[in-house]
Amino acid sequence: MNLQRDRSAWLYGPDNPCQVEPSYVPRVRRLVLLGAPGCGKGTQAALLGAAYGACHLSTGDIFREARTHPQHQKSPVMAEAFTQMCHGGLVSDETVLALLRERSPCLRCRGGFLLDGFPRTVPQAEALDTMLAEQGLSLDGVVYYDLPHEKLFARVEGRRICAVCKAVYHLDSCPPAHPGVCNHCDTTLVQREDDRPEAVKIRQAVYEKSTAPLLDYYRARNLLTAIPADGTPDEIFGLTLRAMG
Ligand code: AMP
Repeated sequence: MNLQRDRSAWLYGPDNPCQVEPSYVPRVRRLVLLGAPGCGKGTQAALLGAAYGACHLSTGDIFREARTHPQHQKSPVMAEAFTQMCHGGLVSDETVLALLRERSPCLRCRGGFLLDGFPRTVPQAEALDTMLAEQGLSLDGVVYYDLPHEKLFARVEGRRICAVCKAVYHLDSCPPAHPGVCNHCDTTLVQREDDRPEAVKIRQAVYEKSTAPLLDYYRARNLLTAIPADGTPDEIFGLTLRAMG
């Protein structure tokens, strides 16, 4: 399973061209991936991105990437956003939407896009609808990864990421070939700051309050497909491909 994708266009701005081969794009897909923290949507987004030739757009990746910039390069709004993020809270809609607007050309990527971690609130979903309509685009679907609450914590606890190429691993279900080291770039794997137990509790509560209402939002628009997320990444990927036709 190769989880590595070129996501530089999204991470560093729309001026960076995506490297999606034409043969990779059998059909344009514009999807939102939804689910509680730990449901595995980032892993699925990487797999689906490779299968569909669609861009994997993760707002969380952008915030984590920007965090590594020197303090003096961060605006007060960004500094505030990082504090919120580390505690497990949401970055303000205003900041997230400004970021998305800045990178809106990525919504026109030729293979489509897989939004991972956005939208996270109803106002963000409404803003996305408006942004897509302005560009003459629409969503093809919303995939909801459904995992029982008690399993979410175990997933998050065992997650390790590569800070360089963004590949995601799990100590039990998707371990790297060599313990603690990324398969793709040999970087030492780390635990996300917001994957620590105290931040995870806050993230789960925030999800229930702010993000879960999106299920009704998209169900009412006939866009929602629920996928049971209790399985291996490959099993869940297979279910998703079948459900998406
Ligand atoms: P993720 O990698 O999607 O779990 O996101 C990590 C963190 O980034 C979240 O816990 C939030 O603090 C912040 N974040 C990412 N996307 C959003 C969003 N769409 N709205 C608000 N905060 C976000």
